[in-house]
Amino acid sequence: MIELDGATGEGGGQVLRSALTLSMITGQPFRIVNIRAGRAKPGLLRQHLVAVQAAAAVSGATVAGAELGSTSLTFSPRAIKGGDYQFAIGSAGSCTLVLQTLIPALLFADAPSSVRVSGGTHNPMAPPAQFLQRSYVPLLAAMGANVDVALLRAGFFPAGGGVVVATVTPCVQLKQLSLMERGERRGGYAEALVAGIPGAVGQRELECVGTGMGWGEEQLLMRGLPAEQGPGNALLITLEYEHVTEVVVAFGEKAVRSEIVAKHAVNEARRYIASGAAVGEHLADQLMLPMALAGGGSFTAESVSQHALTNAEVISVFLPVTFSFEKESLASGERHTIRVATVS
Ligand code: AMP
Repeated sequence: MIELDGATGEGGGQVLRSALTLSMITGQPFRIVNIRAGRAKPGLLRQHLVAVQAAAAVSGATVAGAELGSTSLTFSPRAIKGGDYQFAIGSAGSCTLVLQTLIPALLFADAPSSVRVSGGTHNPMAPPAQFLQRSYVPLLAAMGANVDVALLRAGFFPAGGGVVVATVTPCVQLKQLSLMERGERRGGYAEALVAGIPGAVGQRELECVGTGMGWGEEQLLMRGLPAEQGPGNALLITLEYEHVTEVVVAFGEKAVRSEIVAKHAVNEARRYIASGAAVGEHLADQLMLPMALAGGGSFTAESVSQHALTNAEVISVFLPVTFSFEKESLASGERHTIRVATVS
């Protein structure tokens, strides 16, 4: 039985989610204590509980400690079974993080799967649905995985009610990927998602992005959503390159001016552009697990977060891989190279 301490490094939900995914794939049971000890509300929130229940349903696992607020858990998987699954988070907890727990495992299932998750689709501190569609899934495709993610309905904090469906076709072995360069710039656009709040909020965000990024009107897109999907507002900036697409997000909040929301997104987009690295901070920690499953790979990243360092530790407990991190100082900032290799 693998023993994990959820207080390690970042001390967030990713320690648990990566452990669930890798336990399913390798068949190794694990016990985790101090779940999300680094967070203001430690233990299993609805999103984490649903990730555990979903992983258990997909792998026929025996689980102890799967309750709201629980800070320890034992998970013993059996075989991963493909099929049609539905999971409801029942709050605005992130659908995309539940899906990221399941998708790599379902690549190793005995049959194709479709997984419908309801909850939040645009949450602070989680990938928005478009990030999965445009950034994460295409890189899995470059590794030979056939995955599709559809956003059926948006769900914002605190109401939730969004729906995302992933379809996953098993693949025998993921291919190794070397993503050292982002390649030529192909395009860029911003979208203001607005549901149940005045459209002017989105218009002001887009104007600021236009000024901040030097973009024309054709790159600034209002996405008015049905009012019952709100209230909610997310501003997405999508940067398309030859080898990778990055999606930056900022969220509208009641007490925060649209200009400030736009500034957050523009600053993040500019930092990524200036770094010249292939991937941004978030894609960096999310690419590590698929690359480790492929037995190796490398990429350049704008930064190495505590999430990435912690994920490296958890992944190398389950798989015979090592990670190396190398930093380069550039005139425009820093660029990091992350390599994953199999231990022989
Ligand atoms: P945790 O905080 O441990 O639950 O993990 C959160 C996960 O969400 C990490 O994989 C982050 O990289 C990812 N994440 C957080 N914010 C974003 C964002 N704006 N875009 C994409 N991924 C994100």
